[in-house]
Amino acid sequence: MQFSNGNEQKKDQAADQNASSPQKKFNPVSPQGNVQSFSYSPLTQVGMFRPPNVQLLQNSPAQRLPSTPSSINQQVPLRSPLPSLPTYNGLPTRQQGLPIQGMLQPTLTPPVPIYNGLPSRSPGIPTQRLTQPLSSSVATPLVNPPSIKQAQPSFAGRPFPIPPRFPNNNLVQNAPSAPPSRQPGALSNQPSLSQRQFPVPQQPPSISKPPVMNGVIDMQPGVNGFQGPMQANMMRPIQPSGQQHPQNYASMQQTYQNSLNAQFNQMSVTQSGFNRIWGTEAIDLLTTRDVLPPEGVTLPAINLQKEHLNQLNCSSDIMRCTLRKIPETQSILEKARLPLGILIHPFKDLQQLPVVTTTNITRCKYCRTYINPFVYFIDQRRWKCNICFKANEFPEDFLYDPGTKQYLSDPSRRPEAQNSTIEYIAPCDYMTRAPPPATYVFVLETSRASICSGYLKVFSKILLEEFDRIPGDARAQFAFLTFSSSIDFVVLDEGATKPKLIPLSDIDEIFIPKAEGLLAKRSNCEDLIRKFLEVLPDLMNVEGMYENTGSCLGSALQAASKLAWPTGGRISVFLNSLPTIGPGALKERPRTSSGLLLPATDFYKNMALDNTGQQIATDLFFIGHEFQDIATVGCVAKFSSGSIYKFPNFCADKNELELRRFESTLRRYLTRKIGFEAVMRIRCTSGLSIHTFHGNMFVRSTDLIQLANVNPDAGFGLQFSITDSMAERNNVCFQAAVLYTSSKGERRIRVHTLSLPLTPQVSDVISSADQQCIVGLLAKIAVDRSMATSISDAREAFLNAAVDPLSAYKALQNVRSGQLLAPPTLSLLPVYILALLKTVAFCDQAPGLDERVFDWSEMKTLPLPELIQHIYPDLYAVHTLDEEIDPPRLQLSSEKVDTTGIYLMDAGSYIFILVGRTSPPQYCRAVFGVDDPRQVETMYELPTFDTTESDNLRKFIDLLQNEKSYPAAVQVFRDEAPEKTSFFNRLVEDKTKIGVSYFEFLQQLKTKVK
Ligand SMILES: [Zn+2]
Repeated sequence: MQFSNGNEQKKDQAADQNASSPQKKFNPVSPQGNVQSFSYSPLTQVGMFRPPNVQLLQNSPAQRLPSTPSSINQQVPLRSPLPSLPTYNGLPTRQQGLPIQGMLQPTLTPPVPIYNGLPSRSPGIPTQRLTQPLSSSVATPLVNPPSIKQAQPSFAGRPFPIPPRFPNNNLVQNAPSAPPSRQPGALSNQPSLSQRQFPVPQQPPSISKPPVMNGVIDMQPGVNGFQGPMQANMMRPIQPSGQQHPQNYASMQQTYQNSLNAQFNQMSVTQSGFNRIWGTEAIDLLTTRDVLPPEGVTLPAINLQKEHLNQLNCSSDIMRCTLRKIPETQSILEKARLPLGILIHPFKDLQQLPVVTTTNITRCKYCRTYINPFVYFIDQRRWKCNICFKANEFPEDFLYDPGTKQYLSDPSRRPEAQNSTIEYIAPCDYMTRAPPPATYVFVLETSRASICSGYLKVFSKILLEEFDRIPGDARAQFAFLTFSSSIDFVVLDEGATKPKLIPLSDIDEIFIPKAEGLLAKRSNCEDLIRKFLEVLPDLMNVEGMYENTGSCLGSALQAASKLAWPTGGRISVFLNSLPTIGPGALKERPRTSSGLLLPATDFYKNMALDNTGQQIATDLFFIGHEFQDIATVGCVAKFSSGSIYKFPNFCADKNELELRRFESTLRRYLTRKIGFEAVMRIRCTSGLSIHTFHGNMFVRSTDLIQLANVNPDAGFGLQFSITDSMAERNNVCFQAAVLYTSSKGERRIRVHTLSLPLTPQVSDVISSADQQCIVGLLAKIAVDRSMATSISDAREAFLNAAVDPLSAYKALQNVRSGQLLAPPTLSLLPVYILALLKTVAFCDQAPGLDERVFDWSEMKTLPLPELIQHIYPDLYAVHTLDEEIDPPRLQLSSEKVDTTGIYLMDAGSYIFILVGRTSPPQYCRAVFGVDDPRQVETMYELPTFDTTESDNLRKFIDLLQNEKSYPAAVQVFRDEAPEKTSFFNRLVEDKTKIGVSYFEFLQQLKTKVK
């Protein structure tokens, strides 16, 4: 096979190049030092900025990426268009933080006047540190920018409202478990409106007082306390929608409903009127307790004009847009007050993936879009591109189907025109060098903290078990190095009988020892690698080593990069402590997060940029309880398309939950698919433009991101703005193409295309909203906001992100006061936003710095279903599981949980099973093997019994696990065990120390929705 020479003009770049921007000439995979000029665009992305006309990514090992911000900051204006932007000065001055709606229009040639809500901040931006994301520093709003006319002061600078005091105080008084004196006097202060909204539930007199669940932290009595009657010996069927505790919400709602009937009768626009307008039923959130569909959230349908294309559209598992009908103009988008963006999971593991081998990949010759089901077939010879609308001719052999070896009568029957997700095996012109071997470098901390945690034993065990499943062909190569206060290279020489360590004492000047076997090929060194792994835990556990408290992480990373430099590859770092010695050494910082969320040094980011130029990604495993400064060290993964994992309080001997999670995560990590030397290009119909990228990546140009490694567990987000009216079109398309080298050395291109209809109606936009996708995007934007300004700013922005679309909805219809109406497509938005406000990432209590920054990383990189589970876990009652194994989802409120039941909470990386103290003994016997629920001990897997109940529950857990990329760690505990706090802390609708109840939150929203 021939590979083109690195010095030639690469077809690869031409192949994946947008013809309309010929200045982009950088070639990622050239091993040569072909320095090419890089075109600066003011479009920015998270955490990066690109100076104008900077020579970017010189590939020679001796040269560094010159775009490291530390060197640029002094020379190049950060973002030249910024100071000249017209500004809107009508906003009241705020002491700190940006008005939520203040934003910079993102494109080169914005067609609308720019609203830069922060005249006083702009001059400060260039002095910000490199790590400050540019897009954040101009305060991208959580929703789309308003036009100047819309930027009302009241909208931009709203203060966070003071929550009404215990608005559901009526509940408190009557709740069975409520201490009556809890909020003395609150009732009398309550506005009459609130009283109407939360009427006094009638307590059935015959029901005895249930026990109080101890694990609930400072909860709102009546909302959180167990209220169901004690039915210790019976299996009570769980009803899906709020009928579980008729004495609570059902009666409360009935009372309220009655009280509202008179009001409804006087309304000029009736409920049926709303239905006519919207084709959907408006939901009054204040009277609808159960907003979560028991069967899970369904997405609004996509209705393309050509009906047959609906079946061909891209799976929502791969690409989702916040709006399933795209507004034709920016002003319609602004009226809907919803963010426009897509979340993409481009390398997701797929059961079915059509793969096409062809010498001639059919693409638009003007904009390089890959042919897809949504192009226009003009005739047998020509097609019109659905991105740039120019006509193209088919290649000569297009009608020949290589699969059936027959000529097709219709070009639309080619697999490329039948599949929105497709993979091509790329011809040689998509390569610039021979695909290098899969290269894996493991960097292992062996300081005292590491030895104490016991992780090395687990690492060795899992790697030994999974070694054969690590992707790669016979050429795959492995390197190991250990570090504490010094570095040891592990030599695995083919002829040797046992592994050898070469110590490197000079950690300031890293050089690679001249020795064979630093990179050991799997084909001829497997035995030696296995021998090394067998002795590794003991090797490091020798006297002296144990006293080793320093960490020279920076030097170890430099050494690892040098090993992987010629080929690119993956560096996996396992670390337990703060780097304290050598390059990149850090100091302890206070463990609280206020004001200290930015990196302390640009060392790790610079290293990531250097590594990206050599196609090296770094993944980080933060293990243990010590402060490790993820905000700083994490940059080496964040900017090199790496992954970040954290195992808090990991101790192999003492923390079985984290031990199991570490094991399962490591197993998945080692064996999952990997793509090397990847780039992802996003194309979209003209009229739209990308303005921010989210995820761990390096952004190379306005529509191109570089991924030194791409893995099936990484999610990305993109925000768009509408730069030109699209009124004359029927639909818009987004196409993501990932060009990568497989672990077996094939160059491949995976293409996803999503087509969405356009609409001129604001109401259509709102009724087509994908609320989960919106929440996923908002979380990412809020991370940027938190870094650029403050957590409180992000929290305020969240509140407005809930208020704005509800206000937009309200503006389109007649609503009586006392209602908080939401369309079905946004009915979960408030509860999701409330949940976000209670996450470690955004809560206003100060968690540890590392915990918060790690949660930010999760918000940025988790694929959407996992992100939603992380924010708002799935809760099920499992003591009534039948063979159908499809229990209804319950809302995250302790009113849904009582001591007579057994509940499963799926929080993404953890599955908790709470056993009520009076749950049915026969069920406990069948599932846990004990007669009394109080005898259930904390356990980490379910025992296997030959009973239907045990079978059903284990099958259900398997079902949940199969939907995850990483198997969750399972923990079973009684409702009196200390572990119960993990469960109750996630009941986000309850009032807790970290936030108001869902009812109180709705009250806040109601006062703000105008
Ligand atoms: Zn085109």
